[in-house]
Amino acid sequence: MFTSDSVAKVTDSAHALVSACLLGVSCRYDGLSKPLPAPKRLAAVGLIPVCPEVMAGFGVPRPAIERREDGRVVVCDTGEDVTERLEQAAYAIVELARAHGVTTAWLKEYSPSCGSTYLKRGGIALRGEGLATAVLRRHGITVLPADGPSSPLLSSLGGE
Ligand code: SF4
Repeated sequence: MFTSDSVAKVTDSAHALVSACLLGVSCRYDGLSKPLPAPKRLAAVGLIPVCPEVMAGFGVPRPAIERREDGRVVVCDTGEDVTERLEQAAYAIVELARAHGVTTAWLKEYSPSCGSTYLKRGGIALRGEGLATAVLRRHGITVLPADGPSSPLLSSLGGE
């Protein structure tokens, strides 16, 4: 599914989108980040950080959300449906990508927004994609997992 060609396509490109929390931005629901290793090599790629949930106005910190089997995204504690707000943020990211000629994105696995191969539902990891990933893919953007078991990125980056 994710071949060495697809990795080369990303690493050879002038820039790509990336989940902001992977670059050390404290934008996760719990107010933390999940920085990837090899920051110097990542910086050299020319990445554009994006956070769909912050762009949707959910704030930091914020209540945890999850993507249900029917594709809707809800606040875990209250059941509030936030699908439309998150979709609008994803459309804004598509426009940002187009404005910069970006056709690829490395996004954070297991997220209800950014997951590209896996997400979590009820705390359990399942195969699936986040809502922002789904919107990006529908608009022709290649979304690859920047972390997690199916990511070719970390091994391709190596160490510092
Ligand atoms: S929405 Fe994406 S970029 Fe934002 S904190 Fe979650 S995984 Fe990171």
